[in-house]
Amino acid sequence: MKVLVLTSGGDAPGMNRVIYALYRHFGKNLYASRYGYRGLIQNDIIRVSEIGIEKCKNLAGSIIKSARCPEFAEDKFFKKALKNAKAFDYIIVLGGNGTHKGACRLAENGVKTIFIPATIDNDVEGSDYSLGFHTAVKGACEFIFNTLPSYQSDNACCIYEVMGRYKNDIAINVASIVDADKCIICEEDINFAELTKLINSINKQERASCIVLRERIYPVQNLVEQLRLKCPKVYFKGMNVGRVQRASRPTKREIYFAKAFAKGAIKAIKQNKKCASVLIKEGKVKIIDNI
Ligand code: ATP
Repeated sequence: MKVLVLTSGGDAPGMNRVIYALYRHFGKNLYASRYGYRGLIQNDIIRVSEIGIEKCKNLAGSIIKSARCPEFAEDKFFKKALKNAKAFDYIIVLGGNGTHKGACRLAENGVKTIFIPATIDNDVEGSDYSLGFHTAVKGACEFIFNTLPSYQSDNACCIYEVMGRYKNDIAINVASIVDADKCIICEEDINFAELTKLINSINKQERASCIVLRERIYPVQNLVEQLRLKCPKVYFKGMNVGRVQRASRPTKREIYFAKAFAKGAIKAIKQNKKCASVLIKEGKVKIIDNI
């Protein structure tokens, strides 16, 4: 049996560990499409046994490259991808909701696909967990723990912008763990009168304030500039936690999930599924038919 794996969308910590677990099972019969669906279009396909997956199994990122490929949705390119995809008995795709749509389209055209949710945003429909989220939260918390103490000397107001796209899970979890003074997850949370009052009162207590801001609400530097005008005595520091979250070494819990997802994908293949997703529901791995 020839199996192909690909990682698509933003990279997520734990992807390498899934690839490694699949490699342990399929050995030389496991192939990888580089740069997600782009590799399928361009037939940029490699044997996983030749890329040294053992060495990076516990590292963040994706050794086979994770990428967005908008042209995959266009008929002309999709046909090319489909032709190359048909050389495999199964395709295992890791990514978010967009990636899932791509997998379903392949399956509708006769290619057996298994989808694994892998995106730090934890926003995959139907799954309580998507690979990378736990590590992303840890990465953001460590960034804050490693910077905030220094700003205590300045009684500064630190605003940390965290990833998550339109999902608030990362921001809420991080804010709770680091004991943030404020978590901004929607535009209504940006009430300048209230923020000014809060920041000034914390500054009077001679300590740094910590604000966690979810991305895509208000650019962090703009927020800092606005608040600076309103609290001229306070030193502000806006920080974009950004890629630190994705680059963090997968936690042990992440590795556990990665192995569970891989095991689920192998089980789905043994069950001869045509188009399935491996999801986490109430702490358990579930194999769900998509079509
Ligand atoms: P992330 O959460 O990291 O953003 P994602 O999988 O949701 O991951 P997208 O950029 O939405 O990221 O999609 C990844 C890729 O999936 C796209 O670049 C494209 O190749 C493919 N894709 C997305 N939507 C579709 C669709 N409707 N039909 C076919 N392929 C699609």
